[in-house]
Amino acid sequence: MELPLLAPYACDPAFSRGRQYPEIAAPTRTEYQRDRDRIVHSTAFRRLVYKTQVFLNHEGDLFRTRLTHSLEVAQLGRSIARTLCINEDLVEAISLAHDLGHTPFGHAGQDALNECMKPFGGFEHNLQSLRVVDRLEERYPAYDGLNLSFETREGILKHCSPANAQLLEMSEPQGVGARFLQKMRPSLEAQLCNLADEIAYNAHDVDDGVRSGLLSMAQLEEVALFDRYRAEALKEHPQLASPSMQRRCLHESIRRMLSAQVYDVIAATRLALDECQPADVQAVRRMPVLVQFSAFMREQSLELKRFLFRALYRHPQVMETTGNAKRIVRELFAIYVERPAEMKPAYAEKAQLGDAQAGAVIVADYIAGMTDRFAIREHERLSGQRLMG
Ligand code: MG
Repeated sequence: MELPLLAPYACDPAFSRGRQYPEIAAPTRTEYQRDRDRIVHSTAFRRLVYKTQVFLNHEGDLFRTRLTHSLEVAQLGRSIARTLCINEDLVEAISLAHDLGHTPFGHAGQDALNECMKPFGGFEHNLQSLRVVDRLEERYPAYDGLNLSFETREGILKHCSPANAQLLEMSEPQGVGARFLQKMRPSLEAQLCNLADEIAYNAHDVDDGVRSGLLSMAQLEEVALFDRYRAEALKEHPQLASPSMQRRCLHESIRRMLSAQVYDVIAATRLALDECQPADVQAVRRMPVLVQFSAFMREQSLELKRFLFRALYRHPQVMETTGNAKRIVRELFAIYVERPAEMKPAYAEKAQLGDAQAGAVIVADYIAGMTDRFAIREHERLSGQRLMG
């Protein structure tokens, strides 16, 4: 199939708002392709392979990690972007970077670190992803960070509290924090990454949930979205009903469910675009969110999400590991704040230079950058107790 041209409302790298430190254009790659390449080569990206999404990485090598999750988001996002004639390279860059700021141990780690950081302004993983690409990566001789394009950074900062948006606005006037204060939307490419993230984790958490034994196929009967595509799969392939075919039945149902959601987003977004007719990216930013599900699919997807929350994320077995994970993060935080020299030298030095507030931020950077297994080992080294793994 021939590559379609970019729609007028797509982000065009030729009209990018550019990078903090201007650079000469690359001979063969667009600005967003360069962003994607920088993300793939970053240290934080490689660490995603040992960061938990829902299931601890060492509990089996078959479950999603933040790395495989990010690749799935990029795959879904790119195929939708291409059909909508919006910028596939930008979608890929944002998707691959969207979870770079996540702590070890999935949401449990994020919640625990946020608690620890409450007296110092809290911890938001989206803001941390931005901090990773803006400040924490050390790859260039003249500046910190990856010096990414504005549009990629805008997409990475999916959510931001008003207080943090104010802080960003002070250091970067009319920058990536401004839209949260002005109640504007990001580019269509950024909007798409949000939705692709949700579609990806809902689907792969069903898959990992069943394969881990924490969810049963019978339980999934109460989820209309899944059940519809399972019924469809069984009707076309009755042999899938046999117990030996359960895994194929699961995969076929998820595959159909994913396709249906992708086509639904494409159709609903096309309708919204037809109705609103944004002339360009700036017009998109002033409109409501345009990349969307149909009302019907939105409801069904919410039902699936509620089911996963109840049956999987709050499953006693998951809760037990999340309890330990939170304890590891809390105790590491307390130890490093008390004894910064226990961190790697570069962090220890920085933490000892500033006041308590600055020190806490460095400790949060250090913990957020850890893989699950490094956090477990560090906790064991410092506390003498092995809580996991
Ligand atoms: Mg994600």
